[in-house]
Order: sequence, then C-alpha cells, then structure tokens
Amino acid sequence: MKSLSPEIKERIYKELGKLLPSNEVNSWLKSLEFIVAEDNLIEIPLPNLYYRDWYEKHYREPISSVLTTVLGTRPKIIFKNSADYQGELFTPLNESEHSSKAPAKKTEVIQGKNLDIVSPRSQRNGVLNPKYTFEQFVVGHCNRLAHAWTLAVAENPGKAYNPLFIHGRVGLGKTHLLQAACHYILDKHSNFNISYLSGEGFVNEYISAAKSGTYEKFRNQYRAIDVLVIDDIHFLGRGEKQASQEEFFHTFNALHNAQKQIILSSDSPPQDIPNLEERMVSRFKWGMVAPLDPPNFETRVAILQRLVEWFKKPVPDEVCTFIATNIETNIRDLEGALKNVLGYADVTKKPIDTVLAQEALKDLISSNYYPISIAQIQDVVSKYFNITVSDLQSKKRVKSISIPRQIGIYLTRMFLSSSLEEIGAAFGGKDHTTVMYAVEKVKQRYNKDKQFKATVDLLINNLKRSE
Ligand code: ADP
Ligand code: MG
Repeated sequence: MKSLSPEIKERIYKELGKLLPSNEVNSWLKSLEFIVAEDNLIEIPLPNLYYRDWYEKHYREPISSVLTTVLGTRPKIIFKNSADYQGELFTPLNESEHSSKAPAKKTEVIQGKNLDIVSPRSQRNGVLNPKYTFEQFVVGHCNRLAHAWTLAVAENPGKAYNPLFIHGRVGLGKTHLLQAACHYILDKHSNFNISYLSGEGFVNEYISAAKSGTYEKFRNQYRAIDVLVIDDIHFLGRGEKQASQEEFFHTFNALHNAQKQIILSSDSPPQDIPNLEERMVSRFKWGMVAPLDPPNFETRVAILQRLVEWFKKPVPDEVCTFIATNIETNIRDLEGALKNVLGYADVTKKPIDTVLAQEALKDLISSNYYPISIAQIQDVVSKYFNITVSDLQSKKRVKSISIPRQIGIYLTRMFLSSSLEEIGAAFGGKDHTTVMYAVEKVKQRYNKDKQFKATVDLLINNLKRSE
C-alpha cells in the first residue's frame, strides 16, 4: 500500500493550518495516514466507527479541499476501518510518483522472515506496572487519538500502524500507554516476545555489548523479537549518540521489514527531537504519530476518581474536584497530590475533605496560584443564577438567593485562603458557623446530586476562564 509522502503530508498540514486552529491540526489531523488506494482515491484509516463518524462530520470538507489544493485534482476520500489493512504495510510514495500522478501500485506486502526466538527478554512481572493497563487509562479529549491508536496496534501488532509514535510532555501517560499495549498483547499472545525498554536502556545495552564483544548476540536478540517497545526514545538525541542511532536505525529497519510492531514514546514529535538524524525522523513518521496533551478539568476529575477506586480509599468527589481545580500541570502531579492528601489523612486521622486537602496541599497550591478574587466569584455566581451581586451579599433567605450564596461561599473556600470570618463578611455578614454550614451543605449535595454537581463544576470552569 502506498501512502502520501512525508513532504506532501507536510504541505497538507500547512494548508489545513490555514483552515483550522493549529491545536486541532496537531491533535486530530497530523497523525492521519493517507493511503493512495487507486488513482484519485485516498483512503484514511481510522480505528473505529466513533472516529469515522467524527471525521466524517468535522474534517471531510477541510481534508477534501486541502487535498485538492495540494494534489491538483479533487480525490475521492474514504474513511476506512484500520482493521481492513491487516497485514499491509504503508510505504510512502516518493515525490516523483506524486507528480507523475501514476496510479498507485497495488499492495506490497513485505514478508517477514521466520526468526528464531531467542530467550524472552522482558517478562511482565517486575517490568510492567500492573496499574498501567487500558482499563485504568482514562480517555479524554487530550489522549483520545493516542489511546485509540495504541489499542488498535495492541489488537493487531505489526499489521496496521508501524511504528506507533506517542509523544507528550512528562507525566501525561506515555509510559502508561506503552505498558498497556504490552499487557494487552501478552494477554492475547503469551508466547510473544516483547522487548520493553527505555531509550537509555537501549543505548546502555548497545554500549556494553560493543565493549564486551557480544555485539552479535545483542543484534540477534533484537532481530528476534515480535514487538519492540521503547519508552523515551528522545534519549537517542541527547549528546553524542551517533553510533547508537545507527544501531537503532538498523534494528528498526529489520523489525519493520519483518512486520514486527514498533512502539515508541518521546517527549516531543519526531521532528523536534534534537540531533535526531533525518532518516530516523522520517521513519518515525511512517506509521502513526499521536500526541498526548494535558488533560482538561473534566478529565482530571475522572482520572482522580479512577485512582481513588484503584487505591480503594473513601475520597469524596468534592476532594477530587478540589485537586483537579488546583493541579493542572500533568497527571503525575495530580496523582502525587492525591497521594499527599491520603498520606496526610492517615497521619492526622482526619476525615478526607476539602479542608484537609487544602491543608495537605498548601505547599503545592499557593493562595495566589489562582489570582481569583471574591468579587470574581460573586460576579460569576450571580450571573449564572441571574441574581445581583447585592443579592449574594444580602441577608435574603429565599432559596433562589440562599443556594447561590452557599455555592459562592463554597467556591470561595475552595479557591481562596480567606478565613471563615472574611468569607462570612463578604456574603452578608454571616458568622463562621454559618459559613461552615454552607460549605458542608454544598459538599453533601455535590456528592449526591448529579445535576447540582454539574452546576458547581460549570461554575468552577467559568471561574477558571475568568482568571
Ligand atoms: P509519562 O511517561 O508521559 O511521563 P506516565 O505514563 O508515567 O507519564 O504517567 C504518569 C502517571 O499518570 C502514571 O501513574 C499513570 O498511571 C497516570 N496516568 C497517565 N495518564 C493517565 C490516564 N489517561 N488515566 C489514568 N492515569 C493516567
Ligand atoms: Mg514515562
């Protein structure tokens, strides 16, 4: 199967960038494969029906118009199930093939040689983290593509997307996804020889093999595996690693030619890895390149809830919301914050609630981390409930005002480090017990009433946007 060349794809992305926001191009379109099925027919493989629907609705038009611009004719486009490409390799068309508009050659399948399997290099136990499975991986907008493609590859190793290249900043789930693929493949094919290691591990093994004269063994071992998974491959671009890059290049080619699955992760997309040879960059883009982006608020909450189930601890939803509100960097930090809260509750023997969370995380969350003021909270809350700020600050007791007031108090407690007295003064001269009562009331209802929870979450989101 022939796919459009990386150069042509670059031009396509550039054109798409003129029609769509760059984050959409980066997360939804840059990892697409364009298969030249016949003259003037481009097939785009997608992992499942959900994706085909989504692309059909959102991206058919822009893709079609951009392909027309770049290729000079209006091709027919079909979004196809990636499983239909089982056993086929996509080799990029070169520039001359494009320009002559030659009909694409029919499927070229490179048959893998039967390699003897040397000893299994990495067994699951002790190497793979039992938590890093697909079941424990929360899917959100930030990781949808990477998740779908990793799953597709794990279901059909070596068949569709090769290599699979996952990239994202620290703590966003690269290692988790890579190991999830390993677990999944081992569950289905316990006899598969999977090699899972880090880029640094590869370099170290290569150096020590070269030093100790066991280079042939090293080489044969790598040629004999079914799936090669290398985490943090960007290590190859650090410092003087030409020899290791050269070795990896040959390993990659041998495995790729033999249709063995290669899965890589990196802290940046292939073209941004410093000192990576151009031929490596282009190979890394042969299959799928999928980004992991930082999670949004909803996904952060969902991840914390999944973790709470995993740790089997009684953590109320409002604590997850509190942590998700305050920790935005990455998932590792989110997990660290939750562990801090759990540890703090253990030591102090206090119940796990937002007050405890605030205490436990006070070093992580400085009070001016969010420059949100009481005035902003009152503004957002009153607008949402269609009442005035003076209503919130009044002593009126009708429900249509007292409930928004309680929510305002709760949010102030959550976002600011103001004392109970200060909060009381800002919301109609209430004393500190009334403030505590309001916080408690909102907390309880938040944990019970889904619609109420949705309202409070929405207000939190609005507040964060108003920063
Ligand atoms: P990276 O390798 O990108 O630095 P990790 O894979 O080590 O990140 O992820 C950091 C932590 O966050 C791990 O404990 C992992 O289980 C967790 N994590 C990452 N992504 C998710 C997710 N989508 N759902 C649940 N947990 C996640
Ligand atoms: Mg990692």
